[in-house]
Amino acid sequence: MNRRQWLQSSAAALLLKAAPAAPASIETKIVRLNLRHTWTTTMSSSGYRDTLHVRYTKEGVTGIGEGAPIPRYNEDARSAQAAVNSVRGLLASADPWQFTKVMAEVFRRIEGQYAAKAAIDIALMDWVGQKLGVPLYRYFGLDPRDAPITTFSIGIDTPAVTRQKVREAEPFPVLKIKVGLDTDEATIEAVRSVTNKPLRVDANEGWKDREEAVRKINWLEKQGVEFVEQPMPAAMAEDIRWVRRRVHIPIIADEACRHPADIPKLADTYDGVNIKLDKAGGILEAWRMIQIAKALGLKTMLGCMISSSVSVTAAAHLSPLVDYADLDGNLLIANDPYSGVRVERGKLILPDRPGLGLTSA
Ligand code: MG
Repeated sequence: MNRRQWLQSSAAALLLKAAPAAPASIETKIVRLNLRHTWTTTMSSSGYRDTLHVRYTKEGVTGIGEGAPIPRYNEDARSAQAAVNSVRGLLASADPWQFTKVMAEVFRRIEGQYAAKAAIDIALMDWVGQKLGVPLYRYFGLDPRDAPITTFSIGIDTPAVTRQKVREAEPFPVLKIKVGLDTDEATIEAVRSVTNKPLRVDANEGWKDREEAVRKINWLEKQGVEFVEQPMPAAMAEDIRWVRRRVHIPIIADEACRHPADIPKLADTYDGVNIKLDKAGGILEAWRMIQIAKALGLKTMLGCMISSSVSVTAAAHLSPLVDYADLDGNLLIANDPYSGVRVERGKLILPDRPGLGLTSA
């Protein structure tokens, strides 16, 4: 190297040092999603839901994330937004290619607020997928043809409205029926007066008495029901084991299953687990949970909250891994800002575009 070359390379090195990577920009927005039908479960009844959207922009590419705060876990859209804002500096300066380390730090700094964590994780993974030019299912080594069918959910309502909703759900080959109040038999009878499709039933912790739970599940077994989700409160594990010994269809944990460390404790109580990005804190945590559940011989299901196509599409990219999908939260709303995953006769059709593969609706 002559003197001139040395000076040039030193100047280049100085220039590199003098120009650190531009910080990422992080935008948060609370998005009000209007429901097509008033949505009633054992938990609540409402006409809209607020979710938190996060936009992560760096090097000209924007990753989009969403988290649906879960009131049962003391989350709401404002607390989720405050949680993302509390790590704004970290996210602005962090290297998104080190997303594993970034998310570990996000989990260390934010207590609770899993919807906020999910929104950050999804935005980062969307960014990474777009930068690599691959859809997220391909990043995870999955075959989109393995994506399962999704159920379409029918919230609790009067028999007349239930019949109307079931008719509207005609394209879906399997339905998920919300029960858990004292109208359960009337609800199932209303559904059965319209369709013979296989049903899955979600009691959302609604049955408090184990003998009542056995009686209801034994009746549901004769109504073409494939499995029951969270029949009794998550805290009543001993009663749920008692019920499980007396019924003949699988019992799936939902409210009892939030995080990877919960799953080993559930293996002798339930037949499977319902994993949601909003409960877990994102795609990476959900992937871990699916692997743990499979290793323990549990059935796996991916579910969702009421949310837009951002969160539902993120979950759908992992869906080739699971036995069951209930990824219809975006179909229950009237003002989805994006489109992503599609459903054809119940089958999830994953977008073949980089990252989440979202487009504006
Ligand atoms: Mg559920």
